[in-house]
Amino acid sequence: MTALILDYFGDWRTRPLVCPTCGWTGTFEEGWTELYEALQDCQCPGEHGSGPRPMLAVLPYPTLQQWQAHAGRLSPGERAYIGQIENGRDRFNRLKLRMASQLPDLPDPVLDLLWDQEAEDLVIRLGAREVWREPVRYEALWRYEQVLALLQAKYGPRLRDLAPTPAAEYHLYGDQTAHPAAVQRLRGRLRQAWEAAGTRQPC
Ligand SMILES: [Zn+2]
Repeated sequence: MTALILDYFGDWRTRPLVCPTCGWTGTFEEGWTELYEALQDCQCPGEHGSGPRPMLAVLPYPTLQQWQAHAGRLSPGERAYIGQIENGRDRFNRLKLRMASQLPDLPDPVLDLLWDQEAEDLVIRLGAREVWREPVRYEALWRYEQVLALLQAKYGPRLRDLAPTPAAEYHLYGDQTAHPAAVQRLRGRLRQAWEAAGTRQPC
């Protein structure tokens, strides 16, 4: 059977679900629910012996766009939560690095930069110097790639590394186990480009 897909903004809290196998009936929250990142599901809590326990319904979490479309029906707590997400995104879009020309000129022949984090800010550093600062994003591999491209546009083959510091790892990688390897690959390519350009070794 196909599980019913419920609408978060609909009547799922009161809607009766019926098990086609054992006849159990009850609401979503009376069933066996399990939480996942993007949804909750509900299995029949009735007696099913060693047979499979039917999946009665799936409740996907709304996207930010869906929350916004239902703003009038949100509780004050939900509205505050959405406001925080929107403010965070606005602030990031206002303060983020957009063009290579926003970056400072650096005279150093070789640039080993750090991808560091200080409170809620991502900070790009060269030794003790601060090169760039903007609001940090979570699971930000996409942002690492964007910033790296802008740094390369500005500094060319003098850029040899953009190394994440331990303080930045949590926000950069999040729960994405593939992200550390992806960052290593990008850093490896950066070093190859630096080597291929035959940049003068510092003496
Ligand atoms: Zn059942």
